[in-house]
Amino acid sequence: MNGKLYLCATPIGNLGDVSARCLEVLSGADLIAAEDTRRTIQLLNHFEISRPLTSYHEHNKHEKGAYIISLLKSGKNVALVSDAGTPAISDPGEDLVRLCAENEVEVTSVPGPVAGVNALILSGLSTRRFAFEGFLSVNKRHRKEHLESVKDDKHTLIFYEAPHKLKNTLGDMKNTFGGDRKIALARELTKIHEEVMRCTIDEAVRFYEENNPRGEYVIVIEGAADTEHSEENVWENVSVREHVDKYIAEGMTSKEAVKKAALDRGAPKREIYNEYHKE
Ligand code: SAM
Repeated sequence: MNGKLYLCATPIGNLGDVSARCLEVLSGADLIAAEDTRRTIQLLNHFEISRPLTSYHEHNKHEKGAYIISLLKSGKNVALVSDAGTPAISDPGEDLVRLCAENEVEVTSVPGPVAGVNALILSGLSTRRFAFEGFLSVNKRHRKEHLESVKDDKHTLIFYEAPHKLKNTLGDMKNTFGGDRKIALARELTKIHEEVMRCTIDEAVRFYEENNPRGEYVIVIEGAADTEHSEENVWENVSVREHVDKYIAEGMTSKEAVKKAALDRGAPKREIYNEYHKE
């Protein structure tokens, strides 16, 4: 019988965030595959867990992936951990999950911290719809193309960023999104120096002209203004009578005016007709 791959989320800073189930799975795993073994050893030592450990990262994922699959196929259980947070989010874990799917090996998750989601909920920006954009490329043209491709998205955008690239990234964001968009810079989440700066892109650019970025960052950006929806809102404060009369005054027949008002308000024509003709 095949073993199982466990995707174990580990803390993004505060070791107190590790779950009881994560510790149980790590303690019982035949092998722990870690993106950064030095970091994972600290976690394992802290919780006095001693299990075989191997590296699984961007540069060895092909050979190591095949090796891990062979172990899983021979009935061993493997726990995969990222350098921090949830495996398969901006790390090579997704390749291993795909390999498991192709080889009919069962995968399960042991949920826990994700930096992007924690930054989003702290951002003060809309959480109703959001997109995780991961890291921007180091290639200038690709970065620009990526930003251009999401510039008109209405939902909140989440980016991961390294401190040494932050200033350039903010400059590129200002050029693409404009300086007035709201932004939240969440750094060192769950750590002693946790901080969330909520401002405009312009203000963030100015701040980091005078201050050096420190620690790990998540950038959360407000979506583009929803002009379509705000047009619908305009009519919320206008009565049906005023709305229809406006179009009649502009030269429409009352039938045409009712039809147009219904379209504006996203309401059935019959409803607008009845409302307009009621005493
Ligand atoms: N798998 C991780 C997760 O679940 O969020 C993310 C791994 S990704 C390679 C590392 C990036 O996550 C960092 O460059 C930073 O953007 C973000 N990150 C990780 N820990 C963070 C923290 N404590 N505070 C802010 N950002 C963090």
